[in-house]
Amino acid sequence: MRNWAIAAISLSGFMAMGAGKADDMLTRPIAPESAKRWLAPQPPVRLHGRTYLIGFGGLNVALIRTSAGLILIDGAVPQAVGDIEAKMRKLGFSVRQVKLILSTEPHFDHAGGIAALARDSGASVVASGPAAAVLRQGGGDPDDPQAAWLERFPAVTKLRVARDGEVIKLGDTAITAHATPGHTLGSMSWSWKSCEGKDCRTIVFAASLNPIAVEGWRFANPGHRRFVDAFRGSFARVKAMRCDMLIASHPLDGDAGRVARLMKARTPNPFIDPGACRRYAERAEAALGKKLAE
Ligand SMILES: [Zn+2]
Repeated sequence: MRNWAIAAISLSGFMAMGAGKADDMLTRPIAPESAKRWLAPQPPVRLHGRTYLIGFGGLNVALIRTSAGLILIDGAVPQAVGDIEAKMRKLGFSVRQVKLILSTEPHFDHAGGIAALARDSGASVVASGPAAAVLRQGGGDPDDPQAAWLERFPAVTKLRVARDGEVIKLGDTAITAHATPGHTLGSMSWSWKSCEGKDCRTIVFAASLNPIAVEGWRFANPGHRRFVDAFRGSFARVKAMRCDMLIASHPLDGDAGRVARLMKARTPNPFIDPGACRRYAERAEAALGKKLAE
């Protein structure tokens, strides 16, 4: 009797911890103050075909349903994982159906939640070679232009490296990896074909192209040439990409309004914009030009 009581108490303690994630290392909040604006609430929405947005006002997370399970792109910050999984349930999915998690860059705001999402789903994580090396150690790349202010995040295991141009297949869905380095040397963008009835489009989930660095770190410094060269190559690639719909890793101005419109009416789909990738690259190119001129 007494043993049963003890077992019941420890079991309820364990369950309380699980339910509240009170002591879950992998979902412990990172930079909660700055994360608040990234985590502006956004309802889950079907973007096009079998592609859904399940992220936030300031951080995109995409979900793609294939014939062999789900693909997730990016994982936001660790404290957002509970919400991301709740959005999956709201759409009728379970995190256990996620088979692959694709990563755009190894910074805590996009990759902080990946370790928890990979644990909860059992999924493999796919990233570029340079990004995989940083994800494996939970950040801390000393060469990163933002190194001094970047937070560490839960290390990602079970990684699979994707080469530039590689096609990642799951069931009936094929996603192409596009190396778009600059913001980080491992940044990777992803594209796939989506059909909604007869309307087929190419969707691009673009990594950040923001040329941002800590104070005193100059892109014009000859020692940082590889970042500038990487950016220039990425701008050219993104401009030339087949791209009917753009999901940027941080939502673009106007995306909140587009989500609201899409929830009211599916046609015309406000995210269909074949010039979006070009403008996205042009804006980043102008920002880098300004940095170099300073
Ligand atoms: Zn970043």
